[in-house]
Amino acid sequence: MPTNTINRRSFIGTSIGAAVGASVPPSGAQVLPSAPARIEPSDYITLGRTGVRVSKVAAGLSLDADALIASADAGINYFDTAEIYLDGEHAKMVGQALKGRPRKDIFVSAKFQPGLQNELTATTQDVVRRFHVFLDWLGTDYIDCMLIHNVQRPEALTNPAWLDAYRLLKAQGRVRFLGASTHDPKLHEIVARTIETNLYDLLLVAYNPTTEGDLYGSAGWPRLPRLLEEAKAKGIAVATMKIMIGAVAAGAVSGLGPDAVDPNDIVARGKYLGARVAASRWVLSDPNVDVVQYTMTGPGTVAAAVESGTTPFVEGDAELARVYHRFASGIGCPVPCSAPCRDACPADVAIADVLRYGMYYDHHGLHQQARLEYASLAVESRANICLTCESQACLSACPEGVPVSALTRRAHAQLSLD
Ligand code: SF4
Ligand code: SF4
Repeated sequence: MPTNTINRRSFIGTSIGAAVGASVPPSGAQVLPSAPARIEPSDYITLGRTGVRVSKVAAGLSLDADALIASADAGINYFDTAEIYLDGEHAKMVGQALKGRPRKDIFVSAKFQPGLQNELTATTQDVVRRFHVFLDWLGTDYIDCMLIHNVQRPEALTNPAWLDAYRLLKAQGRVRFLGASTHDPKLHEIVARTIETNLYDLLLVAYNPTTEGDLYGSAGWPRLPRLLEEAKAKGIAVATMKIMIGAVAAGAVSGLGPDAVDPNDIVARGKYLGARVAASRWVLSDPNVDVVQYTMTGPGTVAAAVESGTTPFVEGDAELARVYHRFASGIGCPVPCSAPCRDACPADVAIADVLRYGMYYDHHGLHQQARLEYASLAVESRANICLTCESQACLSACPEGVPVSALTRRAHAQLSLD
């Protein structure tokens, strides 16, 4: 395995401003000559016990309908959306992408969050009402899978209000399957509970090549590969997200191969999408993973998704993905991370969430979405306190060398609606 030659702290010192300040061009115009033009049904996999055949790459959040329409044209048939994505506008874009296509050939997952993920304040009636609003946005009469989004407490998984809404909607033929998503610091506990309940057909989980050791090990979540194995054994479908830290040099030229793993090269020649393909194939090569979800920012990401969903894992992918992560770890959190920084923070700032929303803003150009999500944090968990904090305890608590306070302050300035 090549030695990582980059000095992370010197990178942070010299390049972080440019890296995190870069906005993502609306389209990447990458050329990926080795990949087929589209994903064919013969490339699809069976999504666990749902029995549904889907592309190995799903289209997630996007800024415009064109990227989603291009995704569907390219053979991607799994679309993931959420109530809080662009305040419903994203679901309407998914609806546009579905128009004129046989509904039975598309798998749509819809995520619900407020009042369900942490504070369990939503009633069954609330969820049913919100579900019907979602149907209107999508312009469809059923949703394939409804998920609790960003679960932060294991108790949320057995919340009667949520489960009753699901049973009611399922009996009415409005929904087919139940799912849960998490990238929370308590991820181990939440994933274990999801599997144990055996109520959930789909698990959407953060998973990426952060390890220095075993291929599927994870520095942040050492038990995750074993848990995914348990999920698979029960037929629970596993979709993954957050396979990259941010999007360094996104929108630039792709094509990074196993012979070009110099981390400086990733930045200097802007080969982010090549590293993304490598990370995707790495994740998909885990036999317990079914799907990778992509944020779709333009034609470049659609092409990378097609390549990821049609070409096999190759020697060099794991190393390339890890090189990218080692390189990028100073500019954001290597999700998964158990967030020891939060325990150290005297003010209880939701550091991992704040930095993730900052990453959405800076790297993916998802300005409105990042602001909406930041506004959904409890006031006391936001980062305004960082502006005057003298403790800076977060800095020494972070094992990844993330310049936490600089990033939380920056995020607050960008994301605060005040
Ligand atoms: S700067 Fe202070 S308040 Fe902000 S996250 Fe760090 S320790 Fe917490
Ligand atoms: S700032 Fe560091 S400790 Fe905190 S969540 Fe990010 S990587 Fe983990």
